[in-house]
Amino acid sequence: MALDDYKRKRNFTSTPEPPGDQEAARRVRTGKPRFFCVQKHMASHLHYDLRLEHDGVLMSWAVPKGPSLDPSVKRLAMQVEDHPIEYGRFEGVIPDGYGAGIVMLWDRGTWAPLDDDVDRGLAKGDLKFTLDGYKLKGSWVLVRTRGYGAQRGTDGRSWLLIKHRDDWSGDLDITEFAPLSVKTGQDFHEILAEDTPAIWLSGRSSPGGATGAILRETIQKAAALKHERAAEAPPPRVRARAKAAKAKAAPKTAAKKRPSASPRGRK
Ligand code: MN
Repeated sequence: MALDDYKRKRNFTSTPEPPGDQEAARRVRTGKPRFFCVQKHMASHLHYDLRLEHDGVLMSWAVPKGPSLDPSVKRLAMQVEDHPIEYGRFEGVIPDGYGAGIVMLWDRGTWAPLDDDVDRGLAKGDLKFTLDGYKLKGSWVLVRTRGYGAQRGTDGRSWLLIKHRDDWSGDLDITEFAPLSVKTGQDFHEILAEDTPAIWLSGRSSPGGATGAILRETIQKAAALKHERAAEAPPPRVRARAKAAKAKAAPKTAAKKRPSASPRGRK
């Protein structure tokens, strides 16, 4: 487990994604509750990246259909390269290259393995754990599969994500019910509108099919929103004056801008 694959796939001069440092993360994170997150990622295909902190990195699985709270539903989860711990805060636009698209921090919290020996669970292909996020809670399992959904060259990377029956299971479609960012409350087009991404213009980031249609719609909505915001914004001189007045009124003690504390979509 290391960040070699992660780093090899990315050019950190052109992506806003963090480079990460496993050793440093190990030192800082030891003895702390394990972090987890799910990032909704509109790339060539929309998917949900489940990330579980272990040994200074975020072990990662791409779940095409996203997690299901229904214990009878098994969701394919393709294990992908470990990501840096700092990735758990990332939300934004990857303009081009690997994973080009929009990343939304869809859920975050802590996780705990049922068996402390996580490496043994991974080796066995059976990892039972609990999640304590805003949207996902309770008991889950990742089971490695052979065959199911497997393609050539994916041996050992194909897992199933399954919810165990408990107080947090049910037939609520959590991805439909709580579609927005847990960090900012934003949808994809709002995340995109905060950016000036090359993805707007570059033809290479226009996948076909359903994802392409969603992306095109997202870009249109983002452009409209950006236009709207620009129209609403006061002219630069007024803005500068307002900023100066605000700084005078509340020097240094100004409340730090915090992500919304409201547990959006909490069940
Ligand atoms: Mn992804």
